[in-house]
Amino acid sequence: MTFHCRDSRTLGVRRRLQPVSESAWRFECPGCKWSHVIDDSWEFNGDLEHPTFSPSYLAWNDPNPNALPEYDPDGRYRNGFRCHSFIREGRIEFLSDCTHELAGQTVDLPEVGDGL
Ligand SMILES: [Zn+2]
Repeated sequence: MTFHCRDSRTLGVRRRLQPVSESAWRFECPGCKWSHVIDDSWEFNGDLEHPTFSPSYLAWNDPNPNALPEYDPDGRYRNGFRCHSFIREGRIEFLSDCTHELAGQTVDLPEVGDGL
């Protein structure tokens, strides 16, 4: 999932975080294929190109066996999911307790565009 944005390329900026407010940023998660939002309750190095956050980021959903198949085609809500990572210097290190296929792997955080 890569976003190309003419403006950010002109500026030579390869952002991996998209600001959603003055103190929160969105990133594209290559593990669960969703966007996550992280804010300044984490310790952040302030670098949108090579962000580092600490401590770890955890997103999860408890299983909901009643989730409708139309609403939940990939079964993530019915089975629950967990996405747990460290973001360091523009890379995302997925911990082994993730429920997606990148568990235990480290990959580059995808670049994001500036707007919608
Ligand atoms: Zn994720």
